[in-house]
Amino acid sequence: MKLNGVDFDTYLKNYPDEKGYFGKYGGSYVSDDLQKAMDEITEAYFTICKSSKFISELRRIRREFQGRPTPISYLERLSGKLGNVQLYVKREDLNHTGAHKLNHCMGEALLAKYMGKKKLIAETGAGQHGVAIATAAAYFGLECDVYMGSVDIKKQAPNVARMKILGANVVEVTHGLATLKEAVDAAFDAYANDYKNSIYCIGSVVGPHPFPMMVRDFQSVVGIEAREQFMSMTGELPDAIVACVGGGSNSAGFFAGFLNDPVDIYGVEPLGRGTAMGDHAASLQYGTEGIMHGFNSIMLKDENGDPAPVYSVASGLDYPSSGPEHAFLHDLGRVKYDVVNDDDTIDAFFTLSRLEGIIPAIESSHAVAYGIKLAKEMGKGSVLINLSGRGDKDMDYIIERYGIR
Ligand SMILES: *Cc1c(COP(=O)(O)O)cnc(C)c1O
Repeated sequence: MKLNGVDFDTYLKNYPDEKGYFGKYGGSYVSDDLQKAMDEITEAYFTICKSSKFISELRRIRREFQGRPTPISYLERLSGKLGNVQLYVKREDLNHTGAHKLNHCMGEALLAKYMGKKKLIAETGAGQHGVAIATAAAYFGLECDVYMGSVDIKKQAPNVARMKILGANVVEVTHGLATLKEAVDAAFDAYANDYKNSIYCIGSVVGPHPFPMMVRDFQSVVGIEAREQFMSMTGELPDAIVACVGGGSNSAGFFAGFLNDPVDIYGVEPLGRGTAMGDHAASLQYGTEGIMHGFNSIMLKDENGDPAPVYSVASGLDYPSSGPEHAFLHDLGRVKYDVVNDDDTIDAFFTLSRLEGIIPAIESSHAVAYGIKLAKEMGKGSVLINLSGRGDKDMDYIIERYGIR
């Protein structure tokens, strides 16, 4: 399939280019010291990811430790309520640790092991990435430093406890607003000072090259599995696929399996409380081109051009930008990016739980809400939704804020 000069038959090989660009987006905008470290990772990745030893080791880990392949479930009762559209979910909630994040964390940690590194360094906001990376570090017997703002440490006590139980060192970041942005800066600084011994593990398809590419590649197992499974279940491709977009890793991996197919692809961003700046985190919908955290993409800016404050009911989606590949696919028109607000998300959370016996993460509930809306508009056909994670982590918040419906 070709679109605006891009051939999707060879897309995954050709994008990003060797400098890490998807069109004008991506690249690497970091200090000279960090660039040296990024070059080292890029070189190692290009060599190691082609080795049959690395590939078969990663496959074994996915099967024996993560529980892959995760299944696809047909949503019989929900579909029945929506007329003639058949809804399906790809069950990343059944991946070990309960979300897709472990897919790239195990890949990054295996790369670290092959590179002879002793320590994994990461930042975390809500703690989900921290838990996934701490899990990977424990599995490989690596040290692990997770940088986290003191505000988030207070808010996310259960995840902090999980990281510590898994043996990670949670490094408290107290300066500035003491949230995710400061944690990213502190983690980058620590890494620049210690890159011989350690490796930085970014939590999504963001940051400088090679991370948007590497994380997409590690997550593409989701889309490749889903395409095969859907074909063998139904004998055809889905008419549409849907995933939520925060930084954009679960969606990038899921979409990768279908980019060259006649399938409508939808990325869903959080509209939060509404369209006013500060009330949402829909960066592709309302943002403009800009550089932050070492890469060029579409981002939400404040009046000074810095990353704007953002909000979503799903803490895993409140990031003021998205990966460069999404900005590229957005401009090309290959993926349609749209929004879902908090209220519709919470409705979908309860609907999926009650009708199907699957409690989704609030992040994933955005994709479920959009899938339901799409089904009503389509009238017939099939929709496959990526259920990026399970909702256990969200129980306390849901009960406190919404009660039990
Ligand atoms: C972190 C997270 C997301 C958002 O991250 P992406 O990089 O956009 O995938 C979505 N769903 C779940 C369950 C998460 O934990």
